Amino acid sequence: MNSRAYRSLEGVLRHDRGLVGIVVKKIHDLWREYSSKACETRLKIMDFCGTHEWTITHYGIRSLLPGGIELVAGPGCPVCVTPSHYVEELIKLALDGVIVYTYGDTYKLRSHVEVRGARSLSDVRALGADVRVVPDILTAARDVAGHGKLSVFCGIGFETVAPGYAQAILRRHLPRNLKILSLVKLTPPAMFYSLEVSREKPTEPPIMGVIAPGHVSTITGAKAWEPVAENYEIPIVVSGFEPLDVLISVLEILKQLTRGEHKVTIEYVRTVTWSGDLTAQRNISRVFDVVDDAWRGIGFLPKSGLRLRDKYAEYDAFRELGVKELSAGNWRHDMPSGCKCAEVVLGKAYPSQCPMFLKACTPQRPVGPCMVSSEGTCAIWAKYGSRDLLLRLARELRLVKEGG
Ligand code: SF4
Repeated sequence: MNSRAYRSLEGVLRHDRGLVGIVVKKIHDLWREYSSKACETRLKIMDFCGTHEWTITHYGIRSLLPGGIELVAGPGCPVCVTPSHYVEELIKLALDGVIVYTYGDTYKLRSHVEVRGARSLSDVRALGADVRVVPDILTAARDVAGHGKLSVFCGIGFETVAPGYAQAILRRHLPRNLKILSLVKLTPPAMFYSLEVSREKPTEPPIMGVIAPGHVSTITGAKAWEPVAENYEIPIVVSGFEPLDVLISVLEILKQLTRGEHKVTIEYVRTVTWSGDLTAQRNISRVFDVVDDAWRGIGFLPKSGLRLRDKYAEYDAFRELGVKELSAGNWRHDMPSGCKCAEVVLGKAYPSQCPMFLKACTPQRPVGPCMVSSEGTCAIWAKYGSRDLLLRLARELRLVKEGG
């Protein structure tokens, strides 16, 4: 498809209200059919990725759905799931004179404990340390080449960022004095875990469908989700990020549930393929080892992280700068007291169920990690969630009917 065709497709996905009306009506029709056939009054669908949660909340998509369909956010925000321990280690490095390069949203991420008077990289900068916000690792590399001082890049993210880090190393774009703290996480183990815990509480309906991350799937391919769909016998739809993409994905999940199917379907066909980006996958395997990794608020998930291989040890902040690794033995609960982020990232609670939401915890003064990044569920709800919050309140007060 040429670029003009892509642009007109994006236009339809953004602006075609007629099409939105048709899809919403079909969702309501199918919900009636499914709920009466399956004798269900509630259906939980997880939108795994922070950008999907943004689309859903920003455009008020929950308010278009039948009241029985609940869209719950997942752990797809890398800032939210980065353990406090690594923020603490970066603070120490910065205070010891290492220049720290970070993405903007990690800059404000708060550590669980104070380290020499600081709780975040923005705090240490205020204390006089050198912390620089960059959009990517190559910008950091160019900057380091200019000053030549010992530096570290905070490499958080999911499968989408790993190919960039791998390329930078393989093509020798990194100066020797720039080390990477690889905190890259792999998303399929977290999806398995989220689905497992959703089945633990008999009083709550389990998650019966997943809107899978579109950007991650461009790298991994939709095939990455097949074991999840087979294991839990649920539909998984790899979705784009326009409102209509999300609505079509909800419709596809309902269609499959009504027919008793559980397949992986690609809705985001303009970008995602079944096999994904094979070159990127090869480069990731050349540069990184897959390790068990810690997720903030969750704990250790098997084979869910990437660390640099021995061959690239010279770039590795763990080995070269003495950054301590977390292990199952030294991992500790790292959420602020009263913060419900651990439940929010697993779709077990909505931000509005946290007593600190928009009281003690706001985007200007975040307490928990989900309020920091633009992909954090609490930050998204704080900025755009008023329509959904009002609708929930109206339903609770019986001002509108369930499903209305
Ligand atoms: Fe955590 Fe703040 Fe969200 Fe509460 S509102 S769950 S404290 S981030």
